[in-house]
Amino acid sequence: MADTYRNYINGEWIGGPTFENRNPADTSELVGLFVKGAPADVTAAAQAAQAALPGWAGMTAPGRGNFLFKVADILDRKAEQLANEMTREEGKTLPESRGEVRRAINIFRYFAGEGSRMPGMLVPSERDRVHMFALRKPVGVVGLVTPWNFPIAIPAWKMAPALICGNTVLVKPASAAPLSAWRIVEACHEAGIPKGVVNFIAGSGGDLGQALVEAPPLKAVSFTGSCSVGNWLHAEASKRRLRIQLEMGGKNPTIVCADADFNLAVENVVNGAFFSTGQKCTATSRAIVEEAIYDRFLDALVERTRKLKVGNGLEAGVDIGPAVDEAQLETDLRYIEIGRKEAGAPLIGGNRLTGGAYDKGWFVEPTLFANVTENMTIAQEEIFGPVLAVMRAKDFDDAMRIANGVPFGLSASVQTTNVTRVFDYVHRMEAGLLTVNLPSAGVEYQLPFGGTKDSSFGPKEQGPAALEFYSDYKTVYLKY
Ligand code: NAP
Repeated sequence: MADTYRNYINGEWIGGPTFENRNPADTSELVGLFVKGAPADVTAAAQAAQAALPGWAGMTAPGRGNFLFKVADILDRKAEQLANEMTREEGKTLPESRGEVRRAINIFRYFAGEGSRMPGMLVPSERDRVHMFALRKPVGVVGLVTPWNFPIAIPAWKMAPALICGNTVLVKPASAAPLSAWRIVEACHEAGIPKGVVNFIAGSGGDLGQALVEAPPLKAVSFTGSCSVGNWLHAEASKRRLRIQLEMGGKNPTIVCADADFNLAVENVVNGAFFSTGQKCTATSRAIVEEAIYDRFLDALVERTRKLKVGNGLEAGVDIGPAVDEAQLETDLRYIEIGRKEAGAPLIGGNRLTGGAYDKGWFVEPTLFANVTENMTIAQEEIFGPVLAVMRAKDFDDAMRIANGVPFGLSASVQTTNVTRVFDYVHRMEAGLLTVNLPSAGVEYQLPFGGTKDSSFGPKEQGPAALEFYSDYKTVYLKY
């Protein structure tokens, strides 16, 4: 019998009707039952967060940091359990889950340390004997809405900076993978964070979204997820002049130049496109390859992709887990059908995997379409699965033009040994996250994270930049 995970409001674990969290690699396994929050719970949580605000905001920032260090230590002690649970609820491989849990722990430690810095501003005045400075103050009650694909890292990279700045929070995790975020909240409880500072409501975003944006105490919303939900939240939040931060979809390119380290480029494209089942917002979904090496590169990509093992992420040797749920699997298969019509049969993959253990889950073959051109749907729309569009570019300039020819601008990669091209790409690429001779995915927490164009809106997340969204300045002029 699976455990039931209750919502957390004002320091209390609150029961109610539940929904299921199932393992996408083996849907016969019930990972947990989660209490399905109602709009009234959102309102209650926002009120609790409001009541807790003066105490938490009034504490010293290093004092808040001490709580975050404790949260990190608790997560660290349970790291292997958390990784195992994440693979069972989201499907990514165990090594990928271990890496993500480590990142969440590091994020809590990083922002705990930020409590001892909390940089404000101190500048000399034009006036004699005037002292002027700006202090950081919390924004207030903040709603944090997170997706399923990084189920512990994303809640961590929103919660930790929000809390260190003195805000109180209401966390709404994705219904497909709520357990990892729940574990952070459990750690906050165990760490003794005062009641009402952290609140957690699982349940359908469609049911809870309106109550969240309309909760009177709410001052800000940080959202990561799809463009459609993000755009809706933006419109609603604007009506109440809520501060909002949106991190949404991508259609990330990897440009492969003829001068690239060939084998490294093959590895980076395959890694970027297919690892984590292509379910990373920063995944490579377009490989834009210079004509001079196009055919040879395509052959090598197919050969490397053929070696990938798809299966249950708990098993050693598996490279790629399942789609997160049936709906995502159907989305993948629908785009594969569109790709067949637009670009012809895929060079490899293109089907749901069936037979034996595959019948228990939502498995799809890593799929590669060649000769994709710019206006095709599979070159323009985010799929969020292991589907790669390979495109031919006449030269580097043509590759840059194709790479920038989408509404998104989250991440991008270039594979080249030419330093001039590297800098050209750094300056001309319309994306917030750029890699060079690395996969398009794989970021760290110490630098700003986020995109441009339709991918993102508002201040960046992570690194020192995260403080900008979660704090306000109070500017002081003082005559002495
Ligand atoms: P999603 O369907 O937009 O859901 C994201 C979150 O929003 C979930 O918690 C969801 O709850 C909630 N939600 C749904 N409708 C809502 C509403 N009306 N009001 C308030 N919240 C609502 O996205 P997803 O399928 O979980 O994640 C995949 C998407 O996230 C992809 O587009 C991917 O590119 C993007 N992503 C972007 C980044 C980035 O940093 N740019 C990072 C990771 C993922 P339910 O689960 O209950 O529906």
